[in-house]
Amino acid sequence: MKKEFNLKLNTPLLFLGLSSTTLFSHFALAESYTVASPNEYKKIAQNLAPGDIVNLKNGTWQDFEIVFSAKGTQEKPIILQAQTPGAVILSGQSNLRLAGEHLVVKGLVFKNGFTPSSEVISFRKNKDELAYNSRVTEVVIDNYSNPDKRESDYWVGLYGQNNRFDHNYLAGKRNKGVTVAVRLNTEQSQQNSHKIDHNYFGPRPVFGSNGGETLRIGTSHYSLTDSLTQVTNNYFDHCDGEVEIISVKSGKNTIKNNTFFESKGTLTLRHGNGNVVEENVFFGNGVDHTGGIRVINKDQVVRNNYLEGLTGYRFGSALTVMNGVPNSKINRYHQVNNALIENNTLINVSHIQLAAGSDAERSATPVNSIMRNNVIYNENKKDVFTAFDDISGIKFSNNILNQVAKPSISNGFESDTLTLKRGDNGLLYIANKKYSKVGATKSLKPTLKSETGPRWYAKSPIQTAFDSAKTHTVDNTEGALFNAIKAANDGDVIELAAGNYNVAKMIAIDKTLTLRGAKNTKPTITFERTALFEINNDGSLKLENLAFSGKNSPDSSGNSLIRTAKWGMYKNYRLILDNVKVTDLDINHSFHVFDSGSGAFADVLSITNSEFLNVTGDIVRLNKERDDLGIYNAEYLTLKNNTFKDIQGAVAKVYRGGTDESTFGPHVIVLDNSFENVGLGKRNKHSASFWLHGAQVSAIEHNTFNKSAAIKVEHTVGEPKTRIKDNRFIASSAPEVKELNAPQTQSVANNEFNSAE
Ligand code: CA
Repeated sequence: MKKEFNLKLNTPLLFLGLSSTTLFSHFALAESYTVASPNEYKKIAQNLAPGDIVNLKNGTWQDFEIVFSAKGTQEKPIILQAQTPGAVILSGQSNLRLAGEHLVVKGLVFKNGFTPSSEVISFRKNKDELAYNSRVTEVVIDNYSNPDKRESDYWVGLYGQNNRFDHNYLAGKRNKGVTVAVRLNTEQSQQNSHKIDHNYFGPRPVFGSNGGETLRIGTSHYSLTDSLTQVTNNYFDHCDGEVEIISVKSGKNTIKNNTFFESKGTLTLRHGNGNVVEENVFFGNGVDHTGGIRVINKDQVVRNNYLEGLTGYRFGSALTVMNGVPNSKINRYHQVNNALIENNTLINVSHIQLAAGSDAERSATPVNSIMRNNVIYNENKKDVFTAFDDISGIKFSNNILNQVAKPSISNGFESDTLTLKRGDNGLLYIANKKYSKVGATKSLKPTLKSETGPRWYAKSPIQTAFDSAKTHTVDNTEGALFNAIKAANDGDVIELAAGNYNVAKMIAIDKTLTLRGAKNTKPTITFERTALFEINNDGSLKLENLAFSGKNSPDSSGNSLIRTAKWGMYKNYRLILDNVKVTDLDINHSFHVFDSGSGAFADVLSITNSEFLNVTGDIVRLNKERDDLGIYNAEYLTLKNNTFKDIQGAVAKVYRGGTDESTFGPHVIVLDNSFENVGLGKRNKHSASFWLHGAQVSAIEHNTFNKSAAIKVEHTVGEPKTRIKDNRFIASSAPEVKELNAPQTQSVANNEFNSAE
């Protein structure tokens, strides 16, 4: 342990005029320690005094549970920091708890592990000892996720008062639980005036269930209490965890000048009154389910925000004003009262929904509210407003639309031919002079990615793109393919020369990898284990121009061509098949093409331009949820332009259980395929060609079904969109759509039915 003494003479000149006793008391010795082990830290941590600095020695610290409990002063905080910012890695089962006053933590990196407790960083030591006037700055938490994705934790829990969390980097949270939570659970943590600023909230992958919020302030229980938290100048980059990016559940918070980039979900004023949302910038760039701001409760102000290219609908719209529940319980929906929504600019957004969620329970329409001076510009001249109930409680004035022939809300809206010009700040403004006072101000400066997080930590994508690294060629020499895959790096392509390949061992995919047949060839692969490919954490697989046959597979039931690890998958994966031919998966019964493990989650599973012939099992199995918590297996399943013939099982089994409404998926898109003799095997217990339970969006269009089992759809929750149209059914059963507890939202239309060819 190294120990240095620093005389803390802040303003030596001042001392000259002081008496010797006063002088002496001002000469308190502050110390600077450098510690190299948890034990060394523990020894000095007991007696930290104002002005002390503790440096953690550079290197990797395994399983270090830091308790930083001390009392500094405003002039002389106590600092715990990395010897060199970014060079201290806390890994394994490490975490940090702060308690006391005027503490500063700086420069640490949490990665390669997960917290053994409920938080990675906690602004409290225990229920009674909290942190006040303390700061965590330039800290990184990178992919520090519990590998059991159903185990819940927070990465950061803010307790106490007047704390600041700034310039931190948080990306890749994959397990359940809010990334950053502001807690108001005791009086000592209320009216807290915390500051959360200049943080980089990096990608949070789709969680596939409730519990994937990026920031939550309060809980419904304490939601009528003020929090006074200020969330300013943060950057939210692909925060896709669930429908709520930020969930405000307390009063008098300020959410100001943050940037939301291609993030799925919305900033939701879920509970609590008197919050201000201003100068925020949302860029959706047309990405699915990108949303804006959702208003519930009393006295909310939404002012001078800029929203562009957002596609979200329903509660995920660019702007949603909800209906409430009369005399609502604390955890339901309080009526919108006295909302002020002014000077916002909404450019090319798909939906604005008012009195949203109106139903028998949510019958209290918005009252005493104002919506004025907003610009709503759509290049396609579309009217994007939908009112689901009486909106006479919202007073509209001076809102401007672009060339909407007949605005659905006639009072308070003017339609004109608007011209747009992009300003130096990257935002679009109406060039027409007469509207210069309408919409967001010219002085609005979006927070840039580069202004957030620690400067020394790179903001790299958390997912590797396919085909982004080297290409290696292999031939069918025994073992060559297996070894090439093993040796490949993330993003590589392995190109197979023409020929027949036989693979004796199961191939684990633990990186982003493409396998493809050389140009104008379709090499055939046979395999001897119960699966050819097993996708593991960090794995994503693309197969192109290849043929697969099951004829060398083991003579037992339940084989599959591709599967994920059966359990323990907590990283989302991608699986893409294009121009692939799969034949003779028939050596025994229930031989599947793809079988998902429990808890595994595909961001994308896509099969295009491919052919499947003679399969005793299912093509795609995404049905491993058992406990109806809404933890499903894929966000997007796409089947396009394929041929399926003699398939005993279903083409797709998709199951998303429960009634929680926090997810967007699963989406099932089935276009331009041909099915013949599909789904009629005696072991296919749903007797369906498709069995879709709880899918939120399904489009089954322009397909031909010949001598095949019925499409069976079960609606469970939300307002699922099901469209089955323009298909030809020849000697096949008609589609069946069941409403289990959702309203009638399917459209089965324009299909052609023939009894025989
Ligand atoms: Ca939620």
